[in-house]
Amino acid sequence: MTRVALQPSANALSQAHLAATVDRPVSIDTLRPLVGEADLAALRLAHPDGLVPVWGTRPGERRQMVSRWLRLAAGDVVVFAGSGRLSRTAVITHVFHSPEAAAHLWGHSPTANGDMQTWEYMFSMTTPIDIDIEYGVMNDAIGRAPGAQVREFTVLPEGESNALVALLESLEAAPHRINSPEEYSELVATPAFEQLEQEVVSLRRAEQGYLRKLLVPGPFGRCSLCRRTFSSEFLVAAHIKRRSQCSAEEKLDFTNIAMLNCRFGCDELFGRGFVGVGPDGAFHISTQLPGGPSSAYVDEYLRGATSEHWSKNPGSRRYYAHHLATDFRVSPGA
Ligand SMILES: [Zn+2]
Repeated sequence: MTRVALQPSANALSQAHLAATVDRPVSIDTLRPLVGEADLAALRLAHPDGLVPVWGTRPGERRQMVSRWLRLAAGDVVVFAGSGRLSRTAVITHVFHSPEAAAHLWGHSPTANGDMQTWEYMFSMTTPIDIDIEYGVMNDAIGRAPGAQVREFTVLPEGESNALVALLESLEAAPHRINSPEEYSELVATPAFEQLEQEVVSLRRAEQGYLRKLLVPGPFGRCSLCRRTFSSEFLVAAHIKRRSQCSAEEKLDFTNIAMLNCRFGCDELFGRGFVGVGPDGAFHISTQLPGGPSSAYVDEYLRGATSEHWSKNPGSRRYYAHHLATDFRVSPGA
């Protein structure tokens, strides 16, 4: 799913930041000494021209912004707002934490209770496109109270995110959208597109190969979810917590961060949040799972069962909890 972050940006400080690091993207050379190696590699891949529009949020007086920021990942959408209107939107290309980069780009400033903080919870994005949508139109479209404002950095819940993306698409303002055959031809003809794709595919393949070998040393392995045995080619090493949200340390936590999923249903169901693992190890099944064959599959292989991987690997439990809290599909309003 795509999440949408709303970012108020009308005050003088936000305007200054927009001008300094979004309108004028930051050179990757500036970021190099300030961010970790993995972050640098991700930024390079996403911004092959070496110019990176970046934004950051402060932790906040009660560190309330951190848990919101943690829900974001590459591919999500940011919408800048202020003075009663949504004014710009972009796709988030990488999410990273760097007090050093934030302090270098924007300095520090006191919060309401006098703490000095910097905008260290950062993300990079594509070049924003201009939009002009009144809050009233957004509120109506996403089911918020008519007078609701955008007062602080917020990540919308799934239902509201989907509705806002749909609104942007209906106004042909979605940052991902391709509107004409010409734009499509232009996109696929971009040399960077192909090169990026190849680099990503080969990096992912190498990572996947290593993880899978670790989890399936022989020719066969067992799916962590449905417990059926498959030839290793039909099994994937799946990150329990989304890979893009893992810290470098978490990515190295091989036995706990990844589990084996079969390609015959389980990988799709867990990856898309229709199945999760609860605090007692039991499978949770989303009420949003469509009926028919997908529901029959879950009834046959998963419903009422407990995750063996969860039971055997106590270190994996925090990742399952994270998946349940952020990716598992709950009904809107539940
Ligand atoms: Zn399976």
